[in-house]
Amino acid sequence: MMVLPSGLPGSEVTLSGDSAAPFARRRGDAVPLIHTGATPTIPAAAPLVVPTLSLLLVDDDPGIVQVLGRMLCGLGHLRFALSGHDALRLARESAPDVVLVDADMPGMSGFEFCALMKADPQLAEVPVIFVSSRGEVETEVAAFAAGAADFIRKPPAAEVVMVRVRTQLRLKAMADALRRAALVDGLTGVANRRRFDEQLQSECERAMRDDEPLSLLMIDVDHFKRYNDRYGHPAGDLCLQQVATAVQGLVRRPADHVARYGGEEFAMLLPQTDLSGATHLAERVVAAVEALCIPHEGSPPRRVVTVSVGVASARRTPDAHHTALSAEALIGAADQALYAAKAAGRCQCQTYRPPIAASDSGGSTG
Ligand SMILES: [Mg+2]
Repeated sequence: MMVLPSGLPGSEVTLSGDSAAPFARRRGDAVPLIHTGATPTIPAAAPLVVPTLSLLLVDDDPGIVQVLGRMLCGLGHLRFALSGHDALRLARESAPDVVLVDADMPGMSGFEFCALMKADPQLAEVPVIFVSSRGEVETEVAAFAAGAADFIRKPPAAEVVMVRVRTQLRLKAMADALRRAALVDGLTGVANRRRFDEQLQSECERAMRDDEPLSLLMIDVDHFKRYNDRYGHPAGDLCLQQVATAVQGLVRRPADHVARYGGEEFAMLLPQTDLSGATHLAERVVAAVEALCIPHEGSPPRRVVTVSVGVASARRTPDAHHTALSAEALIGAADQALYAAKAAGRCQCQTYRPPIAASDSGGSTG
């Protein structure tokens, strides 16, 4: 009896650090729940992570797993499982780029395994290739009905396995690139509105669940129509790119999200950040854009491109355990604060006070 690899994730890179530990990384005067005073600790030179393709091979026959492993060992990092349950656990620990699964296994069949993969939002896009000794058409059709990407007959021929797996890896790489592109703003390279809406929704849910503050900055370029009128749209595009880069450059945690909200408006979503921390960052956004010194004769008195920023923060109230934190309320509050910043003369941030509670839908602008 041969010895199989244990199926441990092995050489995968585990990210840890900033996102794992809640801490206040911005100065703040009143910070419930989170520590104060700590500054972000970012390694000066973060190691470059080169993505390695990950393949998961599943068969209750260890001999088949070993044969497939020998055929595919040059393609990437291999993991192995002898049952559907173990395979699902490994896939959930770290999503593979492709799975080869036996159709017939005791316990969980390949069909059940594949259906569960397709039902999991984190794994639904992973191609699953069936490997089966069953030759009848019905089996093949059932595999595709369960979500299979391809079907290989046993005994597997090395050349066939290799080209089929390569094809699925190539298709997945293209689909991944398209999915990423669909979430990025083409002009500025920050997240687009669609991505922001998704992030806002999930961060609202997380803030409620974990009882943590969630802050939002709405950032608007001052007198941007005048800028386009005076300097032309190509210059306007360049201006937005520079502003986006400056704003993105202030982000120090993977959990913080910068997005182009629309037109000349950007949003910054700050989980685990209270109002004072968010206000501090908003002041830095205003200063960073002004420091770009992009000439703007139509924006007196500074005559350079500036931004106004509205700041809002939300957190769950003690008695609001079953109330959803409203993304609309958070945006509405940040918008009100942004209008206040515009009305007060632009090139500044204004804060919506008090911090909105989860059950609130209105308040006053400070
Ligand atoms: Mg079997």
